[in-house]
Amino acid sequence: MSRTIVCFHAHPDDEALLMGGTMARLSAEGHRVVLVTATGGEAGLAATAIKATMPLGERRLRELAASATALGCARVAVLGYGDSGMADQPTHHPNAFSQLDVDVGAHRLAQVLQEERADVLTIYDPAGGYGHPDHVQVHRVGRRAAQLNATPLVLEATIDRRALQRVLRRIRLLTLRSPDLDPARFNALFADPRRITHEIDVSRYLPQKRAAMQAHVSQTTADDGTRLLGMLLRLPAPLFRMVLHREWFVEHGRTPQRPPADDILASFNQADGRRADS
Ligand SMILES: [Zn+2]
Repeated sequence: MSRTIVCFHAHPDDEALLMGGTMARLSAEGHRVVLVTATGGEAGLAATAIKATMPLGERRLRELAASATALGCARVAVLGYGDSGMADQPTHHPNAFSQLDVDVGAHRLAQVLQEERADVLTIYDPAGGYGHPDHVQVHRVGRRAAQLNATPLVLEATIDRRALQRVLRRIRLLTLRSPDLDPARFNALFADPRRITHEIDVSRYLPQKRAAMQAHVSQTTADDGTRLLGMLLRLPAPLFRMVLHREWFVEHGRTPQRPPADDILASFNQADGRRADS
């Protein structure tokens, strides 16, 4: 049965890194995948040469469209709030998403959920992954919108914190030495592995995920060097696969099992199976 999945993200490029493989898989399996982004990501770092030719917000929306095409999205909606910037470098944008009244944002998102008759909404974990204020707000606004719309299935796109720390320890041995990538920084970020309900192997969809990541050209470099997205895209193929072939989710109301489910629609499929059995 074809389902409609609305994927709610904070900035252009979050969709590609966090769940691009899952989105590509869902669209390849015939589901309707709708990408909703809260902000244009205009406060993202980018090299001066890139910012000189076009306003960054405008460029990032074009990149978002290209990424959505690579992932097979049926629709892209941008809510148009201001990018708040990182907690230690706030933009003070008058319309900053992180400062928005949760109910106001939730009504905007609920409208999309209603138009789409969404079966599934994906949001972020309560920590906002790595703690960006706009990511924390995606969690709050997304939860509230799902309540308003009575969306049947809500999943938090996240990362298994322990798996991430293992990968970071391994790549630090090779090339990527950066204090940003110190495994200890992640002790309270993303999700405790005991909360993870879904681990999706997206190996078959790595070409689409990579194409989506590549679409966000402005986010690959900054004036002081290559950024995380650029570093990941430069990894040799086996390392790229090791780092990016899994995606994780926490489904609200589902008890985590070992191994975790490997399909974000598993709860629907189990319910369908039970109906078929009876
Ligand atoms: Zn983001």
